[in-house]
Amino acid sequence: MKKNVLVTGAAGFIGSNFLKRICLANTDVYNFVIVDALTYAGCYETIEKDILENESLFFEKVDIRNANKVKEVFNKYDFKGVVHFAAESHVDRSIENPNIFVETNILGTLNLLNESLKAFESEPNFKFLHVSTDEVYGDLSNEDPAFTELTPLHPNSPYSASKAGSDHLVQSFFHTYGLPILITRCSNNYGPFQFPEKLIPLMINNAISNKKLPVYGDGKNIRDWIHVHDHVDAIWTVWSKGISGEVYNVGGKSEVQNIEVVKLILKHLGKSEDLISYVKDRLGHDRRYAIDNSKIQNELGWVPKRSFDEGLSDTISWYKENIEWLSIVSEMK
Ligand code: NAD
Repeated sequence: MKKNVLVTGAAGFIGSNFLKRICLANTDVYNFVIVDALTYAGCYETIEKDILENESLFFEKVDIRNANKVKEVFNKYDFKGVVHFAAESHVDRSIENPNIFVETNILGTLNLLNESLKAFESEPNFKFLHVSTDEVYGDLSNEDPAFTELTPLHPNSPYSASKAGSDHLVQSFFHTYGLPILITRCSNNYGPFQFPEKLIPLMINNAISNKKLPVYGDGKNIRDWIHVHDHVDAIWTVWSKGISGEVYNVGGKSEVQNIEVVKLILKHLGKSEDLISYVKDRLGHDRRYAIDNSKIQNELGWVPKRSFDEGLSDTISWYKENIEWLSIVSEMK
């Protein structure tokens, strides 16, 4: 008998890569039920073919902010676990409108936790995997050591504050009610199917169309880049082997300044650096993120497999070959 697992937010960037790379490879054991509200960041076309062609994948258009709808979907499918990606995820949007970040990332997560707790009563092996971010730790100077799982949470943007709030709630359900939970905190992802408001697809998209490439401040902010395939492999490793109640950091071991990322993209595409346009810095812009991967590496045996150069080159080729997808999602607001 197959187990039903709820995957939230799989019409978005990381969730759709999880669906294509992990869910499709595990349909012998699981049915996966995708729940997504299809916000501007969720594109049904990205996953439509997979869902139509595979009898172990199901789709439900549900907004996790709606407690009654979340309850209905739990009652319908008798879930044995949850992998929770759904979130408002863009820092700039959180600066413009923090409210929806609290509603989706905190209250939406609470709705899922409440229903998961009921499901856990009849399924002792139930687990809730919460996909979080390194941004909950705040930022680092160039000299600071990388974030470990013991680094205190110090979120700086409404986005990271709402993710930290959801992390705390998830951990509170473990400590208070014994709900089996796992948390992953990952660094900046790149790869196929990323909405072109985030740095790498935005710059590729603009460079392809000979538009200006807007770079915040002096461009020297550092991110620890990871290819999305490495991230979803890490999530599945944690799902399969992680210890209940634990947090696992996930990073690509590729710290690169934003301006270097932009120059590499221009070089790959054979475009001039004259397209770079420095713009007013983002409010409260975190300077540097860096992840210490030792725990997941030593305890669960996961390591990132792709170098940034190789991953970026493949990603640029993917966007060049998928201009149609890029134009569909560019229309979404
Ligand atoms: P995304 O914005 O591309 O996708 C989010 C998905 O969630 C979309 O399909 C959207 O429709 C859905 N969604 C949003 N609000 C919803 C709601 N109220 N109800 C149901 N569905 C809703 O985000 P992403 O980059 O794929 O990130 C996925 C998760 O990974 C997020 O929790 C994010 O915090 C985390 N994360 C992202 C990164 C990164 O670099 N992108 C890094 C670390 C962690």
